[in-house]
Amino acid sequence: MTTIRAVHARSLADPEAFWAEQAERIDWETRCERVLDYSRPPFARWFVGGRTNLCHNAVDRHLATRADQAALVWTSTEVDRQRSISYRELHGEVNRMAAILREFGVRKGDRVLIYMPMIPEAVFAMLACTRIGAIHSVVFGGFASISLAARLDDARPRVVISADAGSRAGKVVAYKPLLDEALARATHRPERVLLVDRGLAPVAMVPGRDEDYAGWRERVGAAAVPCEWLESNEPSYVLYTSGTTGKPKGVQRDTGGYAVALATSMELIFGAHAGDTMFTTSDIGWVVGHSYIVYGPLLAGMTTVMYEGTPVRPDGGILWRLAEQHRVNVMFSAPTAIRVLKKQDPAWLTRYDLSSLRTLFLAGEPLDEPTASWIQQGIGKPVVDNYWQTETGWPVIALQPGIERLPPKLGSPGVPVYGYDVRIVDERTGADCAAGQKGVVAIEGPLPPGCMSTVWGDDSRFVRTYWSNFPDRQRYSTFDWGVRDEDGYLFILGRTDDVINVAGHRLGTREIEESLASHPAVAEVAVVGVADALKGQVALAVCILRDAQLAGTDAAHRALEGELMRIVESQLGAVARPSRIVFVPALPKTRSGKLLRRAIQAIAEGRETGDLTTIEDPSTLDHLRQALGVAEAVPAASGAG
Ligand code: AMP
Repeated sequence: MTTIRAVHARSLADPEAFWAEQAERIDWETRCERVLDYSRPPFARWFVGGRTNLCHNAVDRHLATRADQAALVWTSTEVDRQRSISYRELHGEVNRMAAILREFGVRKGDRVLIYMPMIPEAVFAMLACTRIGAIHSVVFGGFASISLAARLDDARPRVVISADAGSRAGKVVAYKPLLDEALARATHRPERVLLVDRGLAPVAMVPGRDEDYAGWRERVGAAAVPCEWLESNEPSYVLYTSGTTGKPKGVQRDTGGYAVALATSMELIFGAHAGDTMFTTSDIGWVVGHSYIVYGPLLAGMTTVMYEGTPVRPDGGILWRLAEQHRVNVMFSAPTAIRVLKKQDPAWLTRYDLSSLRTLFLAGEPLDEPTASWIQQGIGKPVVDNYWQTETGWPVIALQPGIERLPPKLGSPGVPVYGYDVRIVDERTGADCAAGQKGVVAIEGPLPPGCMSTVWGDDSRFVRTYWSNFPDRQRYSTFDWGVRDEDGYLFILGRTDDVINVAGHRLGTREIEESLASHPAVAEVAVVGVADALKGQVALAVCILRDAQLAGTDAAHRALEGELMRIVESQLGAVARPSRIVFVPALPKTRSGKLLRRAIQAIAEGRETGDLTTIEDPSTLDHLRQALGVAEAVPAASGAG
């Protein structure tokens, strides 16, 4: 029997042979001339000269063997509907959507922005784009007008696909007004907006721009749109993610490398095969949704369960009821969802027949030990934590049950995945850290297939941001702290930058700061992530007002806090709304004017601030403690015990 260690070693010793073998998992119209071109590091080009198509591999390829198998099973507890779509039907719907896009003049390389709730049409739209070689950019439905406008201006889509509304916890969330506001704000003007009308909210159609999906679907009929064969390195999609600047980065993905990487991961990491059913509880607006609701399971000929709803409606058993009902074999969720379930009656965990379920995978944020053991014992199934990022597109660190069942260590996502030369390095020298020594999680180039190929439209930002963080040589930085133990298991210790992770949603503190600073009362603001038992982290905003009297009374304070929260919600979306906003006369800064974010974070979490010899004005810390209503942390007695 092969081991994870052996597969990993082989993948690094001879990457070309390893990945050439994996490339057999997908169909190629033309085989590649070279497996890897790394002549221009850090830009890795995989399967050079090979021609393929993601939609062909995810849909058409399965028609010969599994046309009547369910490809997509959609369940909504928001609108109480279910729909099962076979591969044959999926093929039909994707062709129709592709035909509509063609009618709108969409050609290979054009961008299509998808701003949609969790409905099957969103999947049709993604697959229709890749079918015709258009580049999709899905924007999470929880984002609002400013986030959306920034992405519209960067991606410059020819067409936007959206819907009248989504629904969250039984509340209709109208998308169209947010989209209209974003379109008014953006400088780029898409030619058409295609709208799926679910009948949830009224829509004001703009003549000449807005088009009705149902009408067009009828009009194009049983269309057949051939797949556009793309060179392996041509882009399939752009997915925006938050970084340390206010401007989100467009993570650009290739075509052939992504298809091969996902198909390989389905078997080696997820231990899944054609005919299996996978249920991933993410959203298509995030990378987990792209890779493991849509492309991964479909490339592997599996059935994918798509869920519109929350883990606790109509009750705390819904996820397990769906797992039973659809005979789910592989489940993929996030630690936050499990922490939410911990507040529910534990009897829900054993009420349903989960005999089909082999493994529960969790990712997106740190998985704390109590949550991991609670769920593992509760459902009596192996729980596999896995660590990765929007940039990588698929897991970097994981136990890989498809290769070997390694014993888990609570608190660790596992060991490096094949293809990734993961290092823990000293941030100042770039030297490899010894076991037990904390450092930055870095990856030696070339990144394996399927990882981001560049920042959309900005190669130099790709090099500058990700590959220029260590003094000795070019290496990819994950911007996470980590440590390796003696057995080679890795532990993730939090971000090295100002990115925070709220309920598994990655947010840039700078974006939230910019939004708050747009309020005329705010002179200066700092946003930091603060530990939270449920969501992992929440955003705390510390503001200096132009006029302190604006929050002079309790009532004025509360009113202003509410107003500021609404600004963030309307500009960025509810996900980005700070959990708390406090007002102080000055922010803690160094003498050179650098904001001491970690000190703010430490105080808010009731920890010691550590060495603050460079602070300009120590009284700012007392003001902050006062505003937060926390006492000074007592230093731990050293050497006690
Ligand atoms: P995103 O790009 O939104 O998927 O966020 C990626 C970031 O989430 C990583 O850089 C980590 O900070 C965090 N993350 C993702 N998965 C894990 C995990 N299994 N354990 C710890 N942190 C994680």
